Amino acid sequence: MAVAPKVRVRFAPSPTGYLHVGGARSALFNYLFARRFGGDFLLRIEDTDRSRFVEESLTEIYDSLKWLGLNWDEGPGKDGGCGPYVQSERLDIYGKMAARLIDAGHAYRCFCTAERLAEVRAGQEKNGEATGYDRQCRGLPQSEVERNVSGGAPFVIRLKIPAGRIVAFDDLIRGKIEYNSDVLDDFVLMKTDGFPTYHIANVIDDHEMKITHVLRGDEWISSTPKHVLLYEAFGWADTMPAFAHLPVILSPDGGKLSKRKGAASVMDYKRAGFLPEALFNFLALLGWAPGDDREKMSVDELIAAFSLSQVSPKASVFDEKKLEWMNGLYMAERPSELLVDDILPIWKERGWVSSGSAPDRALLEHAVRIIDLMKTRSRRITELAGASECFFVDPAEYEEKSAKKCFNAEGAERLSLLLKTLEGIDDFVHTKIEESYRGISESHSISIGGLILPTRLAVSGTSNGPGLYEMMEVIGKENVLRRISAAINYIAQPLTKTEGHNGITGK
Ligand code: GLU
Repeated sequence: MAVAPKVRVRFAPSPTGYLHVGGARSALFNYLFARRFGGDFLLRIEDTDRSRFVEESLTEIYDSLKWLGLNWDEGPGKDGGCGPYVQSERLDIYGKMAARLIDAGHAYRCFCTAERLAEVRAGQEKNGEATGYDRQCRGLPQSEVERNVSGGAPFVIRLKIPAGRIVAFDDLIRGKIEYNSDVLDDFVLMKTDGFPTYHIANVIDDHEMKITHVLRGDEWISSTPKHVLLYEAFGWADTMPAFAHLPVILSPDGGKLSKRKGAASVMDYKRAGFLPEALFNFLALLGWAPGDDREKMSVDELIAAFSLSQVSPKASVFDEKKLEWMNGLYMAERPSELLVDDILPIWKERGWVSSGSAPDRALLEHAVRIIDLMKTRSRRITELAGASECFFVDPAEYEEKSAKKCFNAEGAERLSLLLKTLEGIDDFVHTKIEESYRGISESHSISIGGLILPTRLAVSGTSNGPGLYEMMEVIGKENVLRRISAAINYIAQPLTKTEGHNGITGK
């Protein structure tokens, strides 16, 4: 029995813009499949459509894949003997191969002008016929072809679609798919500018790069019969890769996921404060499930569990709420030291820490302590960074509802009592702070809650946040005392002549 060839899969993006999360999901399934079967994951850049080429998107694609941890075994910058891996650097290969198809009688030159093609189309539409090339040049005598070529007439090269054939392939996710060749157009292989079309370049490269499985989005299903015929025409049917078309991704409102509907690029998710491991895990579950009830899975667990038989052909929904939930789980377990680099720039941007030179040790330690307190309470890095304001600045205003409840004469009295006690704590750590709160609560018969709420409001301006004693420790004695004094003054201040309590917000 023949030994099965080593699994080789590829992600083949066209650099026409940012790397969309849908593209990233295709890359990720290829990656998991390669790792699961000890195979190779290739990256190939399909940049033959020059009219849609966007130079910056190359870097964007590379950066996005690297950020997600989808490191390619072969591809740009990593030669594995099948390069180059950028199609615009392989043009001579496609030209030669197309000529081979002409010589073998599987393809032909078509000299029809754009005007003629438009006329043909208009006529077909008028008669209610299927549109497509009418194959006028398919039967041109050789002498006429030669005359046109030597006269410099521009031409495309088209594949001769055989008549009346059932073109079938076994999709690894959807099962057998069949097309009648009569519905296929004699599609273009090489354009007038000498550039190949997606179809021929894709097939030649998959063959030359020894790709064993093609895993791609299901918008390519209708291209696959064309590719099957191309493999046959080249005489490569025996080594044709297996195909698996991945289910479409829908936005939560049901439509196809698109930028307009809020779907974004991988880098947008990075900027919005998501961790790569969370996005990785989330994308893996878009169309695939491990078959048990696990959702949070490490890369190694995903690799060990991944199989195409568990990929559903049904559309999957990009539920951003779920992504946020998952991100929260990954943030909570990430060592705070490893979140500092993502968070410091946001604090600098807001002017909470000085944006000058590299952060010193004290700042780094302070940052880690804040993150320790906040990371289980946030779902995004940006949210964590924004919610940390009270560790840097005195409250500029107090939450209205809570202020109404506890910023009164009694509250002021309690804060004064606390102020005095807190002044006396030399070692301002949360255990000592807690002790003194308990002491006051007992000696003055005030519930702990009756002490905590006014303090929290005085210190942070809001009624929620991490554990109060820990928070006070990190904010520091001097800052805490100043803020409590300010709150006492604030309560004492009579109502201004203008409306109501200045500084109270409806947050
Ligand atoms: N270049 C195509 C794309 O942009 C690749 C499709 C395929 O994987 O065959 O999606």
